[in-house]
Amino acid sequence: AQLRVAIMGLGGYGTRVANAMESCKRAKLVGVISGTPSKIKTWQSKYGIPEKNCYNYENFDKIKDNPDIDAVYVITPNGLHHDQVIRVARAGKHVICEKPMAINAAEGEEMVKACKDAGVNLLVGYRMHFEPRTLEVVNMRRNGEFGKIMFFQGLSGFTIGNPDQWRLDKKLAGGGAMMDIGIYSINGARYMVGEEPIWVTAQETKNDPVKFKEGVDETIQFQLGFPSGAVASCLSTYAMNYLDRFFLNGKDGFAEMQPSTGYGPIEGRTNKGPLTAPIVTHQTVQMDAMAGIILNGEKPPIPVDGEEGVKDLKIIDAIYEAVKINGRVIL
Ligand code: NAD
Repeated sequence: AQLRVAIMGLGGYGTRVANAMESCKRAKLVGVISGTPSKIKTWQSKYGIPEKNCYNYENFDKIKDNPDIDAVYVITPNGLHHDQVIRVARAGKHVICEKPMAINAAEGEEMVKACKDAGVNLLVGYRMHFEPRTLEVVNMRRNGEFGKIMFFQGLSGFTIGNPDQWRLDKKLAGGGAMMDIGIYSINGARYMVGEEPIWVTAQETKNDPVKFKEGVDETIQFQLGFPSGAVASCLSTYAMNYLDRFFLNGKDGFAEMQPSTGYGPIEGRTNKGPLTAPIVTHQTVQMDAMAGIILNGEKPPIPVDGEEGVKDLKIIDAIYEAVKINGRVIL
């Protein structure tokens, strides 16, 4: 059987996912939820979506009565995820939600509970958790090939354009670069080091307070401490392009990846040589794997469930708190 998916939010990333799903074996795009009738028409003809599988933001609770849709992939602005995911869960459909899963951990926990109560899966769109070169490094670390892990560096950023977009609106974005791109370094620190951080420190720099309003972070440096004594040092920014680098060092070896989370080929090497795992379309591999999780209870190589999403949100909450108090926050 295939996982029959409806996409909610037909924007830039929704389009990328839809195109990648054309090559999926175990997942299929069968429906849409959108506030724009003209986009629905275009998607219907492009992907062969029947009228009965098209919804808008007012009527999508009716998806409950549609036996031909198994799951909804929520790909809307961050601030909308919480309410939309809970509505999908209450309609009895599995949910895949884009990162950040919500705009704070409290919201994330409510989403986890709503999905549990409804008996549906909640997965977060962490495409890197299925990316072969990322897994190549994670497996080497798990096999002890770098020795005791001591240090991770994560650098995540791009320059953001149009000042009127939702990504620079606190209500819709939940914050700034940290919510959008910094989260890759947070999540990456966790899967590269293989531990959960126990403390956070963070420092904010804002060079353009007109573009980056109150509550919308431009650049934040942050540090994480792990139970083993390993530390991470990371940068999240909307102020420079081509910032996409992971570096992991253990007592006996290293891995470096650049780009480390971009869509294109992930490139990198370790002290043993270049990464060699296949180059794939991330979203194709992700959606096939998510179909396996939802339909067959398969276990992902790195967790992608709602609890995993909440772990990142707790760290984001702590980073914002650390900036505010200019000190260390214990997790
Ligand atoms: P986008 O602006 O291109 O698309 C957002 C879509 O949501 C648009 O079609 C817009 O019409 C719709 N929308 C519905 N209600 C809206 C409202 N009230 N205000 C504004 N737009 C509304 O954004 P995007 O880049 O597609 O991002 C969507 C989500 O996907 C975000 O959560 C983002 O973090 C995530 N994302 C993830 C990745 C990834 O690699 N996993 C990449 C890009 C974006």
